[in-house]
Amino acid sequence: MRDIRSAGPGPDAQTSSAAFHMLGADVLPGTATRLAWQPGESFAGIAVPTPVLVVHGNNSGPVLCLTAAVHGDELNGIEMVRRVLYELDPLQLKGTVVGVPIVNLLGFKRSSRYLPDRRDLNRHFPGNRSGSSASRIAHSFFNEIVKRCTVLVDLHTGSFYRTNLPQLRADLRNPEVAVVAESFASTAIVQSAGASGSLRRAAVDAGIPTVTLEAGEPMRLQAAEVEHGVRGIFALIDQLGMYRKLRVWGNPAAVHYVSRWVRADGGGILFGKVSLGQRVREGELLGTVTDPITNVRADILSPYDGRVIGMAVDQVVLPGFAAFHIGIQPRETPDGAGGPIGDEAPDEPAAKDSLEDS
Ligand SMILES: [Zn+2]
Repeated sequence: MRDIRSAGPGPDAQTSSAAFHMLGADVLPGTATRLAWQPGESFAGIAVPTPVLVVHGNNSGPVLCLTAAVHGDELNGIEMVRRVLYELDPLQLKGTVVGVPIVNLLGFKRSSRYLPDRRDLNRHFPGNRSGSSASRIAHSFFNEIVKRCTVLVDLHTGSFYRTNLPQLRADLRNPEVAVVAESFASTAIVQSAGASGSLRRAAVDAGIPTVTLEAGEPMRLQAAEVEHGVRGIFALIDQLGMYRKLRVWGNPAAVHYVSRWVRADGGGILFGKVSLGQRVREGELLGTVTDPITNVRADILSPYDGRVIGMAVDQVVLPGFAAFHIGIQPRETPDGAGGPIGDEAPDEPAAKDSLEDS
């Protein structure tokens, strides 16, 4: 297997300590700077440049890219990027760290997951130069920035009033992706090939080992989730041999899961009876749904032994609402078909209702 700590996969990969070239600029070794990416798909005169932070080390090494707010309402990753990029000393760094705090600036300004045309940017990678607006933006971002990366971490949160235990989504069938995921330490890893058109899947297809880090819920800044993400990213940077930082986390092995969603059969007011990260047994009460008109209450029971890795916040739901995301360790997989290389339940229309958030 190719060593992701040194050479990069793409033709543009940077392995020397020469200037780092991106977006028409040359970033000198041992310096940090701010660049601007401009998709060029807005009206002339009101196009908004999207900031790109670059820390280019004195010594050669990988090009690690951190992308956040591809969904404009997912805020935790924005703060993770800031903390990591401004903590790195370029004189001590081997390689380059590129941080794009807000990829979907148009969505962010409207507190929206989507682009202004309601398209999900994260279903349009790697994009197309002559496609839809979303596809053109994706194409520009993919070619101007993503292709310059040798390792990529895309930062997300749960979607639509759901929250996620900090977790990695990774296609562990790819050995290089598995190495990146394992490097985070202390973070749950959920096997997932990734939705078609997602940044992660397109980047992996282009030979760039990529994982998604999910932490918390949209529309909020959550201190504990941000802290977990920053520690995980620094553990990765350390494992890639790019930077020595005082280890604050020991190095417990990552825990692998396959996952299943548990849905509400009835509609009404959902109250969760478990908390994120809690271990549950088969048959254990996860939550209740009470019809506000008839006062009929239905219990949601866990069909599995596992751990709550994602859940809806309390809200009014319709029948069929995906309420609890249960991580199952491979030996606990009910059908035995999952294992570490299993994937989401085949009947899960992940992309349709955005359960595959990233
Ligand atoms: Zn997202």
